[in-house]
Amino acid sequence: MLRTQKLGEADRIITMLTRGNGRVRAVAKGVRRTTSKFGSRLEPFTYVDLQIAEGRSLDIVTQAETLAPYGAKLGSDYEKYTAGTVMLETAERLVVEDKEPALQQFLLLVGALRTLSAGERNPSQVLDSFLLRSLSVAGYAPSFEACAQCGLEGPHRAFNPAAGGMLCGGCRMPGSASPAVETVTLLGALLAGDWAVVEASEPRHRKEANGLVAAYLAWHMERGLKSMAHVER
Ligand SMILES: [Zn+2]
Repeated sequence: MLRTQKLGEADRIITMLTRGNGRVRAVAKGVRRTTSKFGSRLEPFTYVDLQIAEGRSLDIVTQAETLAPYGAKLGSDYEKYTAGTVMLETAERLVVEDKEPALQQFLLLVGALRTLSAGERNPSQVLDSFLLRSLSVAGYAPSFEACAQCGLEGPHRAFNPAAGGMLCGGCRMPGSASPAVETVTLLGALLAGDWAVVEASEPRHRKEANGLVAAYLAWHMERGLKSMAHVER
């Protein structure tokens, strides 16, 4: 479940990411009544097995079985909850079309929510790793080794979100950041899911990586939305 919105007296519109059909929106009837059979199963973060019937305008949820109630585990921990919320929003926005299969995004999201709720890894690093991988699946893979512009092998010193990652001396653009070498190594490990390297990193490099991931995400999300507006026109 990604998001729910109220509809009428007792219904909700549920936005979800599914294994086989990508992003789907459906109506869950009567779920805001206390007597509802599956109201609590249709909350954000919950991983459910759903049955959906085709409706006239929107599809209708007819059955829901909880597979993993991640929301219950995340709701009691502010840091995990906020990291999870960013994951859901990112997944919803990076899957551009309803009902277009998005299996990789689905698997990434479920895996990240499972890791987050297990509590064995730092939430902000689980989030950064998810964001970099999710952006990659959406076609915005950052380059942390070779130059993002000309492909020259690294390591390089300049990072630019608009250019797609690290830039060599020749391609360096104004406004590029100059992260520490260790931060660039950490970013590569977050993207690859190399947790041994991630967990050996120092706090200052984690913090710098956080900022660069946020900048990279912001630039590509905004660009994604802009291009979507063009398509709809
Ligand atoms: Zn270059």
